[in-house]
Parts: sequence; C-alpha cells; structure tokens
Amino acid sequence: MPVDPALSGLAKTIESGQPWPRPACPNCQTGYIGFTSPTGDEGHDSASARSHPAFEPGWISGTFVVRGQCENPECQQAVHGTGDYRVDYSQKSDRDDEFEYQYSSYYTVTHLHPPMLMMPIPKSAPDEVRDGVLRASRVLFADPGLAATALRATVERFLTSEGISATRSTGQFHNAHERIKEWRDADPNRPPVADLFFAVKWLGNAGTHEDSDLTTIEVLDGARVLDEAFHRLFTGPDIDAHAQTINAAKGPSRQP
Ligand SMILES: [Zn+2]
Repeated sequence: MPVDPALSGLAKTIESGQPWPRPACPNCQTGYIGFTSPTGDEGHDSASARSHPAFEPGWISGTFVVRGQCENPECQQAVHGTGDYRVDYSQKSDRDDEFEYQYSSYYTVTHLHPPMLMMPIPKSAPDEVRDGVLRASRVLFADPGLAATALRATVERFLTSEGISATRSTGQFHNAHERIKEWRDADPNRPPVADLFFAVKWLGNAGTHEDSDLTTIEVLDGARVLDEAFHRLFTGPDIDAHAQTINAAKGPSRQP
C-alpha cells in the first residue's frame, strides 16, 4: 500500500457539510476511519466581536474536536482529532444567487490520536525504521517541519542499522549526506535508492530550519519518496526470496 491519499485530504481545510477523508486505520490497517461532524467552540475574541456594529460571520473562529471510528466491526478503534476552524464564504453556495452569501466553517486538523501511519512499514524493515516512521507520524499535522526532520532521522536510523556510523573513527561527526554517500558507494546497486534518501534528507534539512514553512502535503510527498526507497530495499527482496522458494519447489513452497 502506498502513502494513504486520505492523509493529503486531512491536511487540507475541510468545509462543513463536506465528507471527511477516510484514512486507513492505524490499529488494524484493514478498516477505514469514518469521522462524524466536528464540534466547534468559538474563541473568546471571536465571541466578543459579535457585539461590534460591523460584525459579520467571516470574523468567527475557534477550535474544534472531531471523533472517528474504524469501520471494521472487529476493530472499532476510536480516533480523536482536534484543530482550528474559521468561518468564510461557502464554496458550495449557489453562484447564481449573488445577493445571498452563504457561510461555511472551514476545519484545519492539527492533531489526530492515535496518529495515522504516514507510510506503510515493510515487515522486514528494522525496528529503528519502524520507530522513526511512528515518530514522524505523531507530528505530521501539528508540526510538518518536525515530521520532515523525523523522516530524515529515519533514513539515518536505517544507515545506523546498516553499520554506517554517525561518527568517524576520529570521533568527528559524520553528517547525513556523507553517510548516505558512504552507504551508496559500498554497492553498485545502491545509487538509485541513495538518490531517494538524498531527497528525504533535503526535505528534512528544510524542515529543521527555524523559519521552516514546509507543509504537511510536502512532507507526505517526502514520505512517498521514502516509501519507494523502502519498497526497493525490503519489499522487492522479500518478494524475490519468495519467488526463489516457489521456483525451488516448482510450486507452492509448503512446510512438511
Ligand atoms: Zn481498525
């Protein structure tokens, strides 16, 4: 399964009355999370402005909670979401009726708990990689820059598991770029995957900057690149090995 497209949908503002995206369940990974309508709480400043003579609904804003549940009856995992909303002209309103503006609430998700998995984790990936993806997933909506940094760290965790150390024998620090190069140069099959790692590293560098304006959508694009790298490293070899056992048995390889 590639990176879940429902996550990009959740990264955009959602207009009231529109269906919410249904991400894959982080618990069972077979069901989907269905969300009910969000409940808003207007902010104090927003509520105070209602008495202003020039008040218009476009001034309203606040926070919201939303509840989701896995639609798999064997799982029913609950998911809780929070975020901010603001009121603005409806994009659904009838354009022929220009004299009567309709307003909608626009919801922006900042947290989901438990977190949605940003990308699938191959079964044969080392635990360090699993931990790195989980860490990035926890902050995907709250802090995209931090999520990109955690994805870069996932590449570094993978390099550590491959014996590419973060320090030289002299004790000098070995940065991510140098470590990816060292890993790449050890095997002639690695340069295409190393290029994917470099891309994740650049996004991570952009996310680490103090003034980072990286968006959740851009981080998800980075997750797609890392997913492809892991697919080539882990899933491809898993399938090759399975094909070999079928070939050796000249049929399904069944345990006696
Ligand atoms: Zn589930």
